[in-house]
Amino acid sequence: MSSPPALELQGLTKSYGGKLTALSDVNLSIRPGEIFALLGPNGAGKTTLIGSVCGLVKKTSGKILVFGHDLDVDPVRPRYEVGLVPQEINFDPFFTVAESLYIQQGYYGQRRDEARVMEVLTALNLQNKADSITRALSGGMKRRLLIAKALVHKPRLVFLDEPTAGVDVELRRDLWNYVRKLAAEGTTIVLTTHYLEEAEELADRVGVINEGKLLLVEEKKALLRRLGEKRLIVAFT
Ligand code: ATP
Repeated sequence: MSSPPALELQGLTKSYGGKLTALSDVNLSIRPGEIFALLGPNGAGKTTLIGSVCGLVKKTSGKILVFGHDLDVDPVRPRYEVGLVPQEINFDPFFTVAESLYIQQGYYGQRRDEARVMEVLTALNLQNKADSITRALSGGMKRRLLIAKALVHKPRLVFLDEPTAGVDVELRRDLWNYVRKLAAEGTTIVLTTHYLEEAEELADRVGVINEGKLLLVEEKKALLRRLGEKRLIVAFT
């Protein structure tokens, strides 16, 4: 029997206040282990889509299945399989780096696991910062900690919401390498980005969303072949 999609959206729709439709009848199936890049300009609906899966946004209608589990049937358990790297810093500035990860383990119903925390910190080159308070980290280190926090409970499906917006070239390369490593280990990755270049580097498949509508889903290689030289002038910002 084939395994279910890592994520399946069926007619996902979200209206804010009845007027603005941030997501309109989105149908999408993400394969286990793939890197899927969701491209779209500001306000396209990318963060709303992620928030709907992660329980931060209440969908208006449609279905969301995580590894075959319908979130309407069980809104909690399937989300333990999901990790989110948000755009904004979401850790308490006065805890240490390690403490903020222990808190995250507790949040996911796991016991404090120091070995796992050190493993994640080492993978993100933060092992020497375990006892630093998070407020004292540089911007780049905070970005690494955001990723550590999303991964510490070993999610099988990880969302990265514009992970490289505003980061320097070196960190961008580091993050790309790390995303590739995660995917090679079998983690399913959905990343949102404004940069075609980022999708080109990382993705197996690309989806383009605008004004809440998923306009296109295509294998990256086929998309690039189709765009040819034009891809250099395609801008989604
Ligand atoms: P960006 O690339 O700028 O992060 P995005 O593609 O992630 O944009 P969303 O943040 O999902 O887009 O926003 C989609 C639409 O929904 C936008 O028009 C936005 O203004 C609107 N929106 C988002 N959150 C809310 C909210 N809480 N209340 C009302 N409207 C909202």
